[in-house]
Amino acid sequence: MTKYIPTIGMEVHVELKTDSKMFCSCKNGMGMEKEPNVNICPVCTGQPGSLPVPNQRAIEFVQMAGLALNCEIKKKSKFDRKNYFYPDLPKGYQISQYDQPFCEKGSLRINGKVVGITRIHLEEDTGKLIHPKGVNHTLVDFNRAGVPLMELVTEPDIESAKEASAFCQKLQQICRYLKISDADMEKGMMRCEVNLSLHKEGEDKLSGIKVEVKNINSFKFVEKAIEYEIKRQEEALEKGEKIVQETRGFDSNRNVTVTQRTKESAHDYRYFPEPDIPPFNFDEKWIESLRNRLPELPEQKSMRFKEEYNLPQSDIDIIISQKDLADYFEEVVSEIKDKISCQECTADQEKAIKISANYIITELRKNLAETGQSVGEIKITAENFAELVGIIAEGRINSSTAQKVLSEMFKTGADPSQIVEEKNLAQMNDSDEIELVVEQIISANAKSVEDYRNGKDKALQFLVGQVMKETKGKANPAVAMDILKSKIKPE
Ligand SMILES: [Zn+2]
Repeated sequence: MTKYIPTIGMEVHVELKTDSKMFCSCKNGMGMEKEPNVNICPVCTGQPGSLPVPNQRAIEFVQMAGLALNCEIKKKSKFDRKNYFYPDLPKGYQISQYDQPFCEKGSLRINGKVVGITRIHLEEDTGKLIHPKGVNHTLVDFNRAGVPLMELVTEPDIESAKEASAFCQKLQQICRYLKISDADMEKGMMRCEVNLSLHKEGEDKLSGIKVEVKNINSFKFVEKAIEYEIKRQEEALEKGEKIVQETRGFDSNRNVTVTQRTKESAHDYRYFPEPDIPPFNFDEKWIESLRNRLPELPEQKSMRFKEEYNLPQSDIDIIISQKDLADYFEEVVSEIKDKISCQECTADQEKAIKISANYIITELRKNLAETGQSVGEIKITAENFAELVGIIAEGRINSSTAQKVLSEMFKTGADPSQIVEEKNLAQMNDSDEIELVVEQIISANAKSVEDYRNGKDKALQFLVGQVMKETKGKANPAVAMDILKSKIKPE
């Protein structure tokens, strides 16, 4: 079989989180509206004589995205009309950008590879058609019509389903860091289209016929759609069939792509400059002021975390995956630094920071996932979290107790010391006390003691387990193990 190599480019639409719509003062509800056609006006429903006024915030958002993605911010830019008929587009055209987008020539690094960004432009979203079941009519809801929509187009630099999904995830993360969109794919705030062609090994990477796949609404489906399309095209080419240049949709129930329509070219849309909105001129000062407003971005944060906290990269990746989780971690760290601030205590500080990272990554995230809460809803104050870390670091409770205490704190927001005291959870570190229990366990488990003496290490684990059970998890397991070993040395 001939080896085919995929060439993939992405087009990603992101709904921007502005207060109002792109060209009118209607509320930008971002899908939060409870009723259809409530956030509408003559402008976003395309009434004759209405005039669009561009939303400055939306333009800033696109330019900030451009800066975060290493784009050139164009000094001259304009809006254009893209003419086509569709019932969710009452004007008969969409205000978009054609030859002078706000941003061009950027890049985004994913897994050590650079994906080129051709352009980022701004346009208005369309309304939504609703097809009620069991009736032969269609309804239209214009709440979404005129919502600012950022469109980003990449170079065909992506070569696999995994890379494509990693690209989308990184882009989502950046949008969230910039606070320009929640970019939630399931809610339609971020929508991906894939352009994919196959070429034979050794041939030009653009020699294949390009197929576009739309309607992809999760990272998982980005991968599935690409995997399916690679396989479909490979099979067709092997049979000697020609690939048709077309637009396909992804059917997530069957994990297949299906033909929707043959692809239009740009000239079909009869683009022309939007006569109701004058062109823009941006100066260096404006662009600089936006650059100064950029927050610390994931890549910078990752490097700083590596340097400041010396955590493993995999831990850093998880913590910075959500900006507010990273912020929470740093608040805890700052509390720890307040508590442990002597010059000779750097080692203690470092240990406490590592414990914080571990408990945030495992236990805190587990509690969040189980309850479906967001980081913003966490009841545990950074101060209390740091206190818990201190209790763990001092060995006052063992790890299984710490998990219980953290869960309790997560539920009620209570103080960890209080929970430990009230529930009598403090770890037994006192060897004399533990020794008493060990003696009891040894006399009650003669068989296991015998097994251990005969070289079965597992029997020792069992005995430690019995000590833990007897002390309701409070014995320090390391101390219990040492005492057991000293008392029942293998012969
Ligand atoms: Zn409106």
